[in-house]
Amino acid sequence: DIGSQKERVVTEEEWLQKWEMGNIGFHKEQGHPLLQKYLDVLLNGRSGLRIFFPLCGKAVEMKWLADMGHNVVGVEVSEQALKEFFSEHSLPYCEEPVPEISGGKMFQSTSGNISLYCCSIYDLSSSIVGKFDGVWDRGALVAVNPCDRQRYTSLMINLMEKNSSYLLVTVSYDPNKHKGPPFYVPESEIKSLFG
Ligand code: SAH
Repeated sequence: DIGSQKERVVTEEEWLQKWEMGNIGFHKEQGHPLLQKYLDVLLNGRSGLRIFFPLCGKAVEMKWLADMGHNVVGVEVSEQALKEFFSEHSLPYCEEPVPEISGGKMFQSTSGNISLYCCSIYDLSSSIVGKFDGVWDRGALVAVNPCDRQRYTSLMINLMEKNSSYLLVTVSYDPNKHKGPPFYVPESEIKSLFG
């Protein structure tokens, strides 16, 4: 039972404010230990993959996977987060509009292997970003408003290539004791969402 979290909504405006206030305890300077641990599962012996980071923030793992020769695509509503990502890694980038998305922008490293979309994830589709061989979902499904989980998951399934791998990190705690995000997503719900 996810209790009172079911009704909770965090607006895009509130996320932008968190970034402005530097209220970003979710951001970690060190690469996630679970990505290191399960990297082989994500890659499955393949190289030069297209890897998607939904709700990417300024996750340092994007740089890490790009340095390993993969193509990284992320999506994030906060332009500040994306600019901080490039500046904190001293990566030159260019900025261009995304014609299919009103107000949407794409920030791309000059080397071309990191493309970060500044828009809502719900504005994306495979016709805009293509499909992916791998997904790193940390702080993404658990940050999506509970009422949007179905929509989010359908989109993610749509963005996956046939032999794609999806690494999902969730958090387990008593949802009556914290309001989230991160929200508690029970294992049974993950199974029904992803099928
Ligand atoms: N995955 C990142 C960030 C997790 S916090 C990490 O591991 O550090 C969740 C992020 O999602 C925030 O940066 C927030 O600004 C962004 N976000 C929230 N709703 C979004 C939406 N609908 N579309 C795109 N990004 C969103």
